[in-house]
Amino acid sequence: RSEDVMLTGDLAWRAALALDNARLYRESQQAIQARDEFLSIASHELRTPITALRLGIQRLFRIARGGAEPPWKTVAASLDGVERQGKRLTLLIDSLLDVSRLQSHHIQLDLEEVDLSGVVRDVVAQLGSVLARTHTPLSLRADTPVVGQWDRVRLEQIVTNLLDNAIKYGAQAPIEVTVALENGAAVLTLRDRGIGISPERMPFIFGRFERAVSSRHYGGLGLGLYIVRQIVELHGGTIQVESSPGKGSTFTVRLPRG
Ligand code: ADP
Repeated sequence: RSEDVMLTGDLAWRAALALDNARLYRESQQAIQARDEFLSIASHELRTPITALRLGIQRLFRIARGGAEPPWKTVAASLDGVERQGKRLTLLIDSLLDVSRLQSHHIQLDLEEVDLSGVVRDVVAQLGSVLARTHTPLSLRADTPVVGQWDRVRLEQIVTNLLDNAIKYGAQAPIEVTVALENGAAVLTLRDRGIGISPERMPFIFGRFERAVSSRHYGGLGLGLYIVRQIVELHGGTIQVESSPGKGSTFTVRLPRG
């Protein structure tokens, strides 16, 4: 009798172990697949600005070798392109570095008194040329100062990443950006009327290396929202998203004022 019980217990234990092994195996296969996919996306994403950079530099070389009076408009446009692609490359590499720093908890916040409204106005101004180029209208409500103890550079990163996405996935429809104070906390809202996010994708968008197949032709490493969420949480804040496919998305960041 007692042997029977032991045997049953042993069998149950073995079955549980086998199930666990199967789960671990499946998960490691999925992780390997995600890593391979990420490597191919990352190589492609890094290659694109490098190719554009080289083309711009070759154009400038040809002009310089031509000997005649340079067509200054073309020179300026090429230099502008080179600068833009260089910046894009830096941002891509910075986000890769940020992910490994966040993973190993090596990011320290440099807290100081910051006005979130001012930061948002600056970022919108910095992205002005992208808004113009993509014909995206933007309405901004960030007139009253909302001051707190935050890391200015990281705050800029949050706003830049979210606004970048709103433009990228925004289908050129108007974007609304608002900064407000609610129950003593700072609230940043970005609303776009673009492609939106399907309910099945929702749980994954803040993950590392998460890219929807449908968003692949938009470019990007799939790291932006992961970094945003980590930085928001390092500040003790929260980020929420509401979205419906084809109608658009609203991202809401709440930050305690420290
Ligand atoms: P990336 O934009 O580089 O892919 P993110 O981490 O910023 O990476 O976003 C992860 C995914 O979430 C995107 O691939 C996209 O599918 C989805 N997403 C993010 N922001 C938006 C948005 N404003 N509208 C629709 N989809 C979005």
